[in-house]
Amino acid sequence: MNKFIVAIVGRPNVGKSTLFNRIAKKRHAVIEDVPGITRDRLYGDAVWDDRHFIVVDTGGFQKEVEANVKSKGQPVLEHNKKFLEEVIKQVFTAVEEADIVIMMMDAESGLLPMDHELIRHLRRHEKKIFYAVNKIDGPKKESTLLNDFYSLGVDLFAVSALNGYGFENLMEQIVAMLPEGEEEKSEYPKIAIVGRPNVGKSTLVNALLSSERMIVSSIPGTTRDAVDSVCSYYKKKYVLVDTAGIRRKGKMAKTVERYSFMRTLRNIEDCDVALIVFDAEEGIVELDQRIAGLVHSAQKGVAILLNKWDLVDKSAPSLDIEKIKRMVYQKLWFMKYAPVLTISALSKKRITNLFPIVDRIIAESSRRINTQTMNEFLRKTISIKEPPMYRGRRVKIYYITQVKTNPPGFVIFTNQKEGIKEQYLKFLEGQLRSFMPFEGVPVKFYVRQRKR
Ligand code: GDP
Repeated sequence: MNKFIVAIVGRPNVGKSTLFNRIAKKRHAVIEDVPGITRDRLYGDAVWDDRHFIVVDTGGFQKEVEANVKSKGQPVLEHNKKFLEEVIKQVFTAVEEADIVIMMMDAESGLLPMDHELIRHLRRHEKKIFYAVNKIDGPKKESTLLNDFYSLGVDLFAVSALNGYGFENLMEQIVAMLPEGEEEKSEYPKIAIVGRPNVGKSTLVNALLSSERMIVSSIPGTTRDAVDSVCSYYKKKYVLVDTAGIRRKGKMAKTVERYSFMRTLRNIEDCDVALIVFDAEEGIVELDQRIAGLVHSAQKGVAILLNKWDLVDKSAPSLDIEKIKRMVYQKLWFMKYAPVLTISALSKKRITNLFPIVDRIIAESSRRINTQTMNEFLRKTISIKEPPMYRGRRVKIYYITQVKTNPPGFVIFTNQKEGIKEQYLKFLEGQLRSFMPFEGVPVKFYVRQRKR
């Protein structure tokens, strides 16, 4: 089942990201240099009373528009109107695909025209809206502070994103809207085909589903218009996530799909392996990098598909795969573990190769290495390079052990936690992968402090 999406909406500086951080679980031990992730963490996993959902901070979109304006050398203020229009557009693309919206306001500044503007837009969408008034630190002045907002004629939630006042109440009301029960686990591998518009996703999906060896059946989504397809390839079954939308588009040849961050996000969250489709002729652009960044930070299995290879082949017949990989990994430096495939969806070249690769990635993702082998690996790795000294002391790594699969996670025990820097973890990962490639699978290290 698809996870529900809760989007936090509001003017700049009302406290959206503070609330977001309160709701979202921290996903990464180490903040990585990944496109679309470093600038702002747009979304996170959340759980309350055993109900899981995704929370999105639309403030991230605002800051992005701001950054874009700035990078063009234009001061943000002079472009205020244009800026606001752009922000509203971005935010509402997000809202369209969220299930629940938290409209956040600010008790300190009171109800402002832009709040009204946002609410006016919000009400056009048929979403459940929670109106939260932030910066109310306790019951004392609550009703005075809320005064301004009663004119909205809606139920209000007085909260302090900072100190947590009113937070539990808000969360309880929100999760009451979510469907009950455990997440269903599909018995078949789930594949999401993602990529920016026009790279050939729908051509690929239609080619896969019309291929003779495929048997296709549809599973209607439970809550929304998402329809997954089951296809089988050499007697093995696979689920193609959210194929209805993609296929439909394919029938309206030449229309350019609007890129939807939420849909991409939801499909990534929902899959075991994401296949990112790129246009090999056009090359890898920023939006491609950001989609890859989403897949990486969701810690999913992944393969890189360079589509429209028929066009490249004609123009550069001597281009070899190693050279191509180097070019790809230069753009996707955080995803060097992903296998690269050249395909042509249009002429159906090599497209069924995807299935064995998906199988391999899933097998790798659930691979477990025993502690003894891991520690032999650790000894060798340390003998090549020790972590650098930290605060004048040697940094020792005592041992390493695999604590999880899907994706694989490893804990290392050290005498100085702060002494293990990201750079060393990168080195460790590189060494690990040369011994056990974990192709198409992100691996994660957790560092723990331990007295010997
Ligand atoms: P989507 O937006 O990612 O679903 O992209 P589409 O599947 O609609 O494809 C966009 C355009 O690229 C269409 O005109 C397709 O015919 C074309 N296209 C897709 N795959 C290939 C391919 O492998 N080779 C070539 N030459 N064109 C392709």
